[in-house]
Amino acid sequence: MNHKCGICGVGGKDNAEYLLYKMLLQLQHRGQLSAGITTYHPESTQRLLTYKEIGLVNNVFHAEHKEKFSPIMQKHKSLTGIGHVRYATSGADDKNYAQPFERAHGRKNKWFSFCFNGNISNYTDLKRGLERDNYHLVRETDTEIIMHMLSKSIKTSGTLVDAFAHASIKLDGAYNLAFMNAEGAIVAARDPLGFRPLSYMVSDGDMVFASESVALTSNGFDHFNDLAPGCALIKENNSIRVERFASSGKKAYCFFEWVYFAHPASVMEGVLVYKARHSLGKELAKFETEKMDKDCVVVPVPDSSRPAGEGFAESLGVPCVEGLIRNRYVGRTFIESGDRAQKVKDKFAIVKQVLEGKKVFLVEDSIVRGTTLRKLISFIKKHGNPKEIHVRVSCPPVKWPCFYGIDMSSRAELIAAKYEDKEDLNAVICKELGADSLIYQTEEGLVKAIGLDKKDMCLACLNGCYPTTMGEQLKLFSGGGRAADSKC
Ligand code: SF4
Repeated sequence: MNHKCGICGVGGKDNAEYLLYKMLLQLQHRGQLSAGITTYHPESTQRLLTYKEIGLVNNVFHAEHKEKFSPIMQKHKSLTGIGHVRYATSGADDKNYAQPFERAHGRKNKWFSFCFNGNISNYTDLKRGLERDNYHLVRETDTEIIMHMLSKSIKTSGTLVDAFAHASIKLDGAYNLAFMNAEGAIVAARDPLGFRPLSYMVSDGDMVFASESVALTSNGFDHFNDLAPGCALIKENNSIRVERFASSGKKAYCFFEWVYFAHPASVMEGVLVYKARHSLGKELAKFETEKMDKDCVVVPVPDSSRPAGEGFAESLGVPCVEGLIRNRYVGRTFIESGDRAQKVKDKFAIVKQVLEGKKVFLVEDSIVRGTTLRKLISFIKKHGNPKEIHVRVSCPPVKWPCFYGIDMSSRAELIAAKYEDKEDLNAVICKELGADSLIYQTEEGLVKAIGLDKKDMCLACLNGCYPTTMGEQLKLFSGGGRAADSKC
């Protein structure tokens, strides 16, 4: 399961270009396909300068070669800029899809660069509308759609907030935007439902923002806030302000950010990701049916399941051990190719000495398709020789697709949707995975562990209750067309 992108920005700070690079490094887990920055240069003919490439952040900026890294930093030396890391479900490895996207124009307020984290659910409708208006679209991506929408809105709006307000009326979905124009105005905007996180800090006439707080705190910006849904943080004409550009009357924070996507050191809506994951493990332990004895060990699937594994083990009084070690140096290209069994072997090493003869409680943060977990269980059985493997999942069954930026787009690919009619879902999935038992988190346990109000969270991939109009429509075409689990 993968995520689409991370954004960051700096408004009015020395060495903004270097800070952007450092923040992108901390956001690398949100996208490994490409990275890029746009910086502002008021003294130059080329007032906006964009640099982007395919690859990991350090490769893109040639961080291991001073003779290449320094000229890039020198060329982009600036006080203001925006940055982006990209993961893509389409558009493959084409550099044309790397962000930021820049739209040149003869007038400074209409010349802008922007980047985006999320997914526009009504992409197809908006694309058709633009084509009817005689637009020629050159890429298959919602980023291009947003670019034209913003461009149209800027033309007809008096202020930047008006422009974002105009554009947001038409957009359905998740979108966090980093925007900058050739007048040096910079904006961070969060969609009206706040699906994806966005943190910022303002101090002494300057500002920084990033998709996750870890990118701020690791660079010394400790006193950050969450940008409220529907709000924009704006720096223009030497003033900084937060202004509302849209209101939906509700929120829809994606619960998966706490379960899997976000960095464990990030704090979102006041909740530390590590703590939420640890609590998920504790909640999960409440449903344990197996009798614990001296042969029991908890093995989290690294890395994102580790805090849940620790919480689970602590609650049950059994050791949490590293029976699986993740290879951090396997490149993306290598992982993305080949069969799944090979990918599992490339990705994990087995520590047979801690698994052999043990009753293993394998804690995983989520099961989406189940294919990788099945291969992993078979790999552990073959090379770790455990007595039993009991799978414990810190997220409830994922039964519905996501239309807000996570790459699970049809019910057919979701193992829990495939078997939802079965009386004992757990037993059927457990058999398919080749495990000895399987227990999932409950929706109540999940909400309790994260600690936010349930009505403020998007749980659509669990219960089929989509928080946007387009989400509800797309649900009907997502395969099966069955009724949602609960009343929406
Ligand atoms: S559908 Fe699921 S993954 Fe997508 S935004 Fe909602 S909670 Fe997150």
